[in-house]
Amino acid sequence: MRSREVSFDSDASAELRFAGELAPLVRRSGHDGMVRYPVRRRASIKDVVEALGVPHTEIYGVRVEGREAHWDHLLAPGASVMLLPAEPPVDPTRPTSLRPHALPRLRFVVDENVAGLALLLRALGFDAAYDRTWDDEAVADLASRERRFVLSRDRGLLKRGAVQWGRLVRSQDPDGQLAEVVALLGITEAPAPFLRCLRCNALTEPVDKELILHRLEPKTRKYFNEFRLCRECNRIYWRGSHHGHLLYRLEAAGVKIG
Ligand SMILES: [Zn+2]
Repeated sequence: MRSREVSFDSDASAELRFAGELAPLVRRSGHDGMVRYPVRRRASIKDVVEALGVPHTEIYGVRVEGREAHWDHLLAPGASVMLLPAEPPVDPTRPTSLRPHALPRLRFVVDENVAGLALLLRALGFDAAYDRTWDDEAVADLASRERRFVLSRDRGLLKRGAVQWGRLVRSQDPDGQLAEVVALLGITEAPAPFLRCLRCNALTEPVDKELILHRLEPKTRKYFNEFRLCRECNRIYWRGSHHGHLLYRLEAAGVKIG
């Protein structure tokens, strides 16, 4: 091993610089996001970046010697590479040179480790698929098949080739996570607030109070007249105290509701 190490001098390294919010994600780098990477084999930028711990979903620009490059660019000894983070707002419905396959519309698949985001995104009106029984492969497959934006704290999931668009969610709590996602995607207004079932993601419909009267608590029966029903799971929604609390959380994340 010793002779092998000696045979690579500094010229056999490439210099990678992870800019902005990418820097803290990199293994083996200083706070400035600089890494000297030993080039010991043929490796693409995507391979090297992910070996350093940064999922490809977090990278929005690759520059080699200052020129735009792609994922499959082979890292050469002595190369100087700059990796650029997202510049919000990001619009996944528009193709970019690194992601030529734009999403037809903004829909999400939410990984189990950020499950609380599913409820909040549904409350805003977004189609946010989530099922706690899905493993990484199931989430990645769904993202690929239904062209969904993946939200996760799992770097391994976001490194998968089937995932094109996604976000390694940094925040630990659901409210911070929502603020992070709406800031990234430039979501300023809820597309369809409180029209989607929080439990199962289906769209709800208005329902006559008379038809569900037998399912209401006396106080709800007395004080509320407008109700919505989820035909998928049969859950009833009305604008009670839980609604006010949720509204506060959504607005605190920076989204205007109706
Ligand atoms: Zn439902």
